[in-house]
Amino acid sequence: MSSISCSLAEVVAEMEAMYDPSWAEPWDAVGLGCGDPAAAVRKVLFAVDPVAAVADEALEWGADLIVTHHPLYLRGTTSVAATTFKGRFIHRLIRNDVALYTAHTNADVADPGVSDALARAVGLRSALRPLQPSPDNPRRGLGRIGTLPSPLSLREFAAQAASGLPRTAGPLRVAGDLERPIETVAVSGGAGDSLLSTARAAGADVFLTADLRHHPASEHMEAGDGPALIDASHWATEWPWLADAAGRLTSALRARGITVEARISDVVTDAWTATAPDLDT
Ligand SMILES: [Zn+2]
Repeated sequence: MSSISCSLAEVVAEMEAMYDPSWAEPWDAVGLGCGDPAAAVRKVLFAVDPVAAVADEALEWGADLIVTHHPLYLRGTTSVAATTFKGRFIHRLIRNDVALYTAHTNADVADPGVSDALARAVGLRSALRPLQPSPDNPRRGLGRIGTLPSPLSLREFAAQAASGLPRTAGPLRVAGDLERPIETVAVSGGAGDSLLSTARAAGADVFLTADLRHHPASEHMEAGDGPALIDASHWATEWPWLADAAGRLTSALRARGITVEARISDVVTDAWTATAPDLDT
């Protein structure tokens, strides 16, 4: 089948049908970061972070568009000069005719969204519901909660979660009795501190998220009767969403006779790159 060429505007329209920009938090910066809406798109690279290693991968592969979860410019800027890493990133993209598109907190709350993909990656097969439903639509919202096909110990669930998530430098960190039975699982991709009390109120046996800080985690554990905690790398909790978004985008375009090639970046762009005392010398 000969494929119809696809414009960046058409890709953006499909992305926005899945991840409506109006769902994003007011402080967020989602949508097109650079690119000409009339430009042709044949190859789309999906990545968590807009960083140099991802630009390298995009240019090497010949991508026309990079879709990232995290925004490049989150706060207002008055310059995109190539004097900062952000400026250099955007210059490389524009010079090579590569567009940048971001779906961030609007992808977090989408149905399905970032935490659905995370829940599936760690072994949930049940129906999922948002941990904190959006006020205007309870099918959307932050985090997800569901049940395991059969109960596991915390030890077994942590091992299963580790094998379902992409490997990063650091291990998963676990808080709780390792023999505790786990059936109801709450997850939230990215930094999930703010959902600790929600996971407790929802009756989860474990809450898996990223970037848990000492004080909220310590106070949660001391309070007792709440879910066990699993802290994973921020990048790893959001990476599973990339394949879901890529699959949905390519199917939506294929239904209209348009073929684009999607690739999931497997460059680990988590900020943490090693752990001691296992450092190679
Ligand atoms: Zn994130």
